[in-house]
Order: sequence, then structure tokens, then C-alpha cells
Amino acid sequence: MRMSKLLMPTLREVPAEAEIASHRLMLRAAMMRKVAAGIYSYLPLGYRVLQKIMQIVREEMDAAGGQEVLLPIVQPAELWHETGRWDDYGEEMFKLIDRHERQFCLGPTHEEITTALVRNEVRSYRQLPLMVYQIQNKYRDEIRPRFGVMRGREFIMKDLYSFDRDEEGLDNSYWTMFHAYERIFARCGLNTRPVEADSGAIGGDQTHEFMAIADAGEAEIVYCSSCDYAANVEKAECLTPPAESTGREEPLVEVATPDVRTIEDLEKFFSRPASEMMKTLIYRGGDQVVAAVLRGDHEVNEIKLARAIGCLEVELADDRTIEEVTGAPRGFAGPIGLKNCKIIADPAVMSIESGIAGGNAVDVHLRGVKPGRDFTPDEIIDIRKAQPGDPCPCGQGVLQGARGIEVGQVFKLGTKYSEPLGATFTDEDGVERPLIMGCYGIGVSRTMAAIIEQCHDDDGICWPITVAPYHVDIVPVSYRDEQQRAAAERIYDELNKAGVEAVIDDRDERPGVKFKDADLIGFPIRITIGPRGLADGQVEVRWRATGEEYLISLNEVVSHVQDRITRAIAQSKCVCTG
Ligand SMILES: [Zn+2]
Repeated sequence: MRMSKLLMPTLREVPAEAEIASHRLMLRAAMMRKVAAGIYSYLPLGYRVLQKIMQIVREEMDAAGGQEVLLPIVQPAELWHETGRWDDYGEEMFKLIDRHERQFCLGPTHEEITTALVRNEVRSYRQLPLMVYQIQNKYRDEIRPRFGVMRGREFIMKDLYSFDRDEEGLDNSYWTMFHAYERIFARCGLNTRPVEADSGAIGGDQTHEFMAIADAGEAEIVYCSSCDYAANVEKAECLTPPAESTGREEPLVEVATPDVRTIEDLEKFFSRPASEMMKTLIYRGGDQVVAAVLRGDHEVNEIKLARAIGCLEVELADDRTIEEVTGAPRGFAGPIGLKNCKIIADPAVMSIESGIAGGNAVDVHLRGVKPGRDFTPDEIIDIRKAQPGDPCPCGQGVLQGARGIEVGQVFKLGTKYSEPLGATFTDEDGVERPLIMGCYGIGVSRTMAAIIEQCHDDDGICWPITVAPYHVDIVPVSYRDEQQRAAAERIYDELNKAGVEAVIDDRDERPGVKFKDADLIGFPIRITIGPRGLADGQVEVRWRATGEEYLISLNEVVSHVQDRITRAIAQSKCVCTG
């Protein structure tokens, strides 16, 4: 490709709306342009990267037994009514009405469509297991699209659905996909960690998220320093700390605490650590009001809390509810004397022997609070968020924290969709049974952004060789110079013939501009043709990611570069297979 012809409007300025590196760089390096909030056009360079990621995904899905299909983006409401998700999905679903007043949506996901397809076409156990997948646009009307394609409203996903006759088959499909995902992300040059994840309030089924480790990630994860345990904090189990008796049981006393509100204020006022405070938060979940009681140094995990009371989700109660339940305004809640409210205590609270809690009255706290003596929780259950420094459930290691970008998820669905949609097959014994399903997603456009988050520096992107838009950028210092131009054109020709993806910077630009663009766009290899080297028949090879730089003879450069690229790509495959 000739840069003089390539649509690559790079930007020197940092776009104001972009908060994270990948968003900034995808705009600056001419990978994409914004069309509307959370909706983007991919320019030639960006689309080449996407296609490479899609190709890696496709190769691994095919190798794992997947069959590629293409399902419609526009989906009829009827199917979604069959599973009850038309209403459950809420505002995130893009809905539309056709000229005959029939309702449709832009597919946010394809469980309904796929299950309906398979229920009509698969009858017998002989047709199982079956895995179908597609790579396609998905739509979610995010309330706050942000971070470029990381949280967009239109995005590209690979979604595969597995259909098995029993749990054993599902288990097999699940781990086949799990390992295919490990290979895909390794081949994309992405450092990911599979973590145990929450399967939703009704679930109970197994699921893992593949997290690309990056500070810009929206997910918090914890992992063990001494075993394989890794989990999304939403899911991570918390061990109950061993109860140590301090023998400091005290009588319950009311203390006036004007202007003492936060846990920090309390620590100062009482000269006691946050671990002796009892934080009480009033929540509403469905038609229930609950008080969540945790240690002052712990955070509530709303997903665990929702599950504890059998709700889809919980939210902090409004002021009126708080007054009804505690008899005081917001900010003074405590576990003693609550009205019409279920008390759920985290196990860690129960080993506090003399705690400090809100007094359910303005500017009053209670000292010497002992759970069991002064109040009795309705339930004692793990409702806290795991945090770095906690002991690992394995009992050996300590949990470390990291942030991650969720680039993939594997999920055992069981009969969640096949039952309501009536997708069954006839087993060997002639009995009709529901299909056992799994679903497996990869955010393709998000993977592209995640790669940039992990592979960039102050000058721009450093694409891994496997997904780079082009492998080599040929830069004659002056394209007008006859000798340089001839040498550059010769290398360009030979690289093309050798099947190496190359661009030639034939623009009439200053060398500084060309080098800046090369670094910004992030071609893995730059071949610079300058007057000094050329006098000795040499050109300069520079590797973007490592900064490695050396001179090599004009006659050898093509085979040298070709050889190193082939080896680098082969290596990226080995990393994952074994
Ligand atoms: Zn562990």
C-alpha cells in the first residue's frame, strides 16, 4: 500500500473526549472515527486489525469444531417474548417497529435466534454435539457509552452456542472453548487471565470471564499469590476471619457524636479501628427492605446481597424508607432496633466483641455492641466484596488485586433457553429431552482496544505482529531522492512478492513527520532508507516494540525481515499451544 493513497488521517492533537489510551490512539492513529455516541466507523488501518483478530478467532473456532453461520441483526420480538427477555432486557435494547406495526430489536445477543434455529433443525442425538458461531455486530443502548469501542453501543462480537445431549457433553464443549480462548488471546498478543465470574442472580451455572489485565479495565479482579484461584470481585468468595477473643466485652452505651459521620471520623472519635465498626446500609430489593451489616473496613457486594435475598438486583434505599426503618435520617443507621427490615450480617461482623454502630438517632452512636447479645441477624451470609490482602479460599495464599478488561466469557447455560423455547431432541432411548446449551462470547472490537491498552507507549501503538495492520513500513528519508526512491521501491516490490504486508511512505513529507506517523500507527518494523546507509548499500531496520535497531544490506533486508516475521508469528502460536 502506498501511504500517499492510504486514507490515514492521523491526528497530532489528543482528542478531548478520549479518556483512555486505546480510545485516544484509535482516533489519533486513524483507526476509527466517531459517528455518534458509542458508534464508530473503522478506517482502512483499523479495519485491517479487526479482520486479523477475526481471522484468528475464526481459525480457532473452526479448529475447536465450530461451524460459522450468519444470523440476522434484526430480530422479531416474538422470540424474545418466549423467553421473557423482551421486558427483562430493559432500556439497553434497541427496539424498532416496522410498517406493519410489528416489533423488532437490534440483536444485543443471539441466544433466542440460535436456539429457535436449532429447535427447528435438530431432532436427534445423532446430530449432537453441535457448535455454531458467528462474528457480527451487536447493539446495546448503553446509558453512558464511553472509552471508545470499549463500551460502545454498536460493537463486533463472536458468539458461539454449543448444544449437547447431557451435562458431560456440555462440560466437554465448555473446556474446549475455554482452551480455544486461551489460544486466541495468546495469538493476539494479549495477556489475559480467566477468572471465575458471577452467573447472575438466578444462575448457579459455571462461567469464566477472560480478563485482559489493564489499569483502564472496568472490572476488579483478585487472584491468589500461591494457587490458580482468580475471580471477579463480584464473585470472589470471602473467608470468614477466625474469631479471636479479645475478652473485651463491654456494656452497651449510647454516645453523643455530633458531626461524626464517616468511618474515618469514627476511628478518630473513638480511637478504634474500622474493623470494630459495624457499617449498616439499608437496601431495597424487589419489595423487601434489608439492612446489610458489615465491618467498617469492608465493602458490600451488591450481587451477593441480591442473591442472599433472592432478588435480581438491590439498590440503596431512598431517604423515606431509611426514616421508616431506622427512625432517623440517612447517616445514622445501626443494627439495633430496626423496624420492618430484615438484617443480613456478614460473617466477619459476628466476631466483633465490642463494636461501634449507628444509634438510629441523630448524632448518636452505640459503643460496646455485641452481635447475638444486642441484635440477632435474620441471616449471616457472605455479602462482602473481596479485597486485596484477603486470604485466598485455598487457605494458603493472599489475594492480589488487578483491573481487567473483559474480552471474553464462557458460560454454561444448561436448559435456560432450550426449555422456554422448546428446543428438544430425541435421545437414544427414544425419550425427548431439552438440549443442554453453552454460550461463548468474544468482544472483537473490545479485544482490539485491549491490545492497545497493553501495547502502547508515549509515541503510539506497538501492535503485536499477528494483528498489525501492516508488518513493515518502508520509509525513504526523502522520496524525491532518486537513489532512495529506487531502493525503497525495490524493497516494497520484493516484500509484496514475498507476501509480506508492507506500506511505503511515498509522501512528500519531512522525515520527522514520517517517523512520527510510523510510531503512532505502530507498524512492528520500520525500514529506513537514508543517504548515509545507502552509500554503503545498507538500510536500517527498527523494531517498534523493543526499539531494536540495526543496519543490514539492501540485498538481504527482504529475506531477513520475512524470516523474522514468519518466526514471530509461529512463536505466537506456540505460546498458546504449549
Ligand atoms: Zn489460593
